[in-house]
Amino acid sequence: VTAHPSYDQLSAAFLRMYRFEHLQAIAMWDHATYIPPGGNDARSAAMGELAAHLHRLRTAPELAPLLASAATEALDELARANLREMQRVHRHATALPDALVHEATIAGARCEHAWRTQRPANDWAGFAVNLKEVVRLTRRQAELLSDQLGLSKYDALMDRFEPGMRSAEVDRLFGAVKSWLPELIRKVRARQAKQTVIAANGPFPLAAQKALCERVMKLLQFDFDGGRLDVSTHPFTGGVPEDVRLTTRYSADQFENSLMGTIHETGHARYEQHRPRAWLGQPVSEARSMAIHESQSLSFEMQLGRSRAFMQLLAPLLREYLGAQPAFEPDNVFGLYTRVRPGFIRVDADEVTYPAHVILRYEIERLLIEGECEVDDIPALWDEQMMKLLEVDTRGNYKDGPMQDIHWTDGAYGYFPCYTLGAMYAAQWFATIRTQRAALDSEIARGELSGVLDWLQANIWENASRFETDELTRRASGGPLDPAHFKAHLEARYLG
Ligand SMILES: [Zn+2]
Repeated sequence: VTAHPSYDQLSAAFLRMYRFEHLQAIAMWDHATYIPPGGNDARSAAMGELAAHLHRLRTAPELAPLLASAATEALDELARANLREMQRVHRHATALPDALVHEATIAGARCEHAWRTQRPANDWAGFAVNLKEVVRLTRRQAELLSDQLGLSKYDALMDRFEPGMRSAEVDRLFGAVKSWLPELIRKVRARQAKQTVIAANGPFPLAAQKALCERVMKLLQFDFDGGRLDVSTHPFTGGVPEDVRLTTRYSADQFENSLMGTIHETGHARYEQHRPRAWLGQPVSEARSMAIHESQSLSFEMQLGRSRAFMQLLAPLLREYLGAQPAFEPDNVFGLYTRVRPGFIRVDADEVTYPAHVILRYEIERLLIEGECEVDDIPALWDEQMMKLLEVDTRGNYKDGPMQDIHWTDGAYGYFPCYTLGAMYAAQWFATIRTQRAALDSEIARGELSGVLDWLQANIWENASRFETDELTRRASGGPLDPAHFKAHLEARYLG
């Protein structure tokens, strides 16, 4: 006889959900990589059915009384954290009626499908018709979640991706960045105008690029027994901790993006591979949040991968896999990977201008969800902020403006802040690692990466969702999230 029968029943129920989520993750990966066009419709239908089944499991009527009685049982610290996460999943899932979720999925799919042709045609007017329907249904969901969670509408949506984060806090953090970013960009640009960087000469055969990417994944200690690298239009990391699937995309005329994209996804992948095996299948073993996840990919890509020290490791590999050329000297590779150029497109943005893209999307989507602006107001807000933050003129250019991302078409409102919060967390992790390892850069340059990787494993990966984000942050770094680390990182790298 167990001392916590209700908790045990919940554990069994959540393990069952995890098994279905496993199959869902692999089906999604296959859908993004290898599915032949003829399989598309049937797969979409099957995945819709699986998603509906999972939603029924998460909202099953027997869960509410079990969650209530488990809260009165004698549970150890880990089980209590697990129960807290179960309650969170349940609160979010039960806030939304099936019919509304279904209607929103269909509106999102319709908007996304039309967007594929509307974007190249710069057809904002046509796109806005569908987007208004997505926004209407998202606002309805935000209202219901807001009632259930006792949060503002936007905060209720953001809580799906970044539990515990509130827009008042995001305003504070992003407000700090806005106060120094435009001036920093100007200074870096003035400095880089005087520097010469030699472009790498292609073409770069795709097979060589793939071999190079896999070699760098091994350097970063990715476990190929428990995962693989493939190709998709939009790179991502999927699968499950026991079988992590990551993707990149290659272009013969340049190697920079496939390689750095792979390093980014490897950061996501190693977090997944090192979530605590003993707790797998339970909500407490899930990654803490989207910003913490992004802090791992950006630890790999930005903090480690684009550092001057790491170029000592990359440069010889570039020569080995792609052939020797003057561009592949460490200083020049550093120059290639740290060029700052304000541009239209978020996913192509450099490390310094990237936060501007996120801040402007965050500010617009929050107004939109709170009902303080309408879809028709988006282009003017966009133009104004792009000019203010990046001095880029986007008037009339909708395809490279508010039509460029997929997030708003598929209803993922509240996600954008996670990118820049992740960059801030990553800077804070590395500031902490540096206080503990004075010789970090020379270790990295020699290929000794265990100082970084062991710290991330012990402080982030193995904790998974055991602590809420703020506590995880304090335990790892001694204090709450502080954007000053991000500023200090950018100044050291780009003005130091
Ligand atoms: Zn990422």
